[in-house]
Amino acid sequence: MSKILGLHHITAIASDAQRNYDFYTQTLGFRLVKKTVNFDDPTTYHFYFGDEVGTPGTVLTFFPWAGISKGRIGNGMATEIGYSVPHGSLDFWKARLEKLNIRYDNGREVFGEKQLSFEDPDGLKLKLIESKQKDERKGPETAEIKADVAIKGFHTVTLSLHNIKATAAILTEVFGYKLVEQKDNLYRYQTNAVENAALVDLLEMPLTTGGVNAGGTNHHVAFRVKDEEDLMAIREKIVARGLHITEKINRDYFFSLYFREPGGVLFEIATDNPGFATDETVENLGSSLQLPKQHEPMRAQIENALPKLQTK
Ligand code: ZN
Repeated sequence: MSKILGLHHITAIASDAQRNYDFYTQTLGFRLVKKTVNFDDPTTYHFYFGDEVGTPGTVLTFFPWAGISKGRIGNGMATEIGYSVPHGSLDFWKARLEKLNIRYDNGREVFGEKQLSFEDPDGLKLKLIESKQKDERKGPETAEIKADVAIKGFHTVTLSLHNIKATAAILTEVFGYKLVEQKDNLYRYQTNAVENAALVDLLEMPLTTGGVNAGGTNHHVAFRVKDEEDLMAIREKIVARGLHITEKINRDYFFSLYFREPGGVLFEIATDNPGFATDETVENLGSSLQLPKQHEPMRAQIENALPKLQTK
């Protein structure tokens, strides 16, 4: 049976490309696994930050639009990204954020899991969580961030909604998730199809207004399927519910479908195949600008229009 295999990637909007790159690779220690352009707007970068090979469930991607105004975090969007970190590593992260003058909130333990919340330079909300589930993924290491503290990948994503009902129905009836925890207005859903990146938290906020998608907000949440056959099987289920969904789109590193779930969040379904090592080797991932075939003839103009990036 076609199954959703947890989260594939999340895509957000940033402003300054260099600041975005520095934060995710240096401050948090991710690897830039793909440097390409927005296929619909090739004068804008599309960065993919993940583990060493860009494993689905670890990858946060950005469109950095220079000078874009700050968006408004609100209903109908993903409002917080939760990464899994090794047990006992939060003290390291607190000290690191303090040293870098990044404010954090250490006050919350949610569903019995310790977490540390902070924002990226554009105001995107992130949290590091000591998951109570087994997580054997190995986070990407840098000179300053060793494996015993490295961020492993997604743990959960929070969707803020006026009412959770219709979104919960998609998760449970189409995606195979189950309600596993609930406290006040926070509902945690989990799929048992995968061990990690298997959670979605729905936050019911009846009095909050809708979010505005711009700098520092999430653009969409992509769920993972094995291949194109499973992709199209999910498509049929979405169509059967009377929702509008795109045709299959080739994103070069995966095949995708997009639909807006009834709560307003833009969902994508993305395949594992072919992955990031299609146009460069694993050792070289992210090291040079990759363009989709249709834009390759304009490489010189595109490179000229993109802001220069210092990748040291
Ligand atoms: Zn996407």
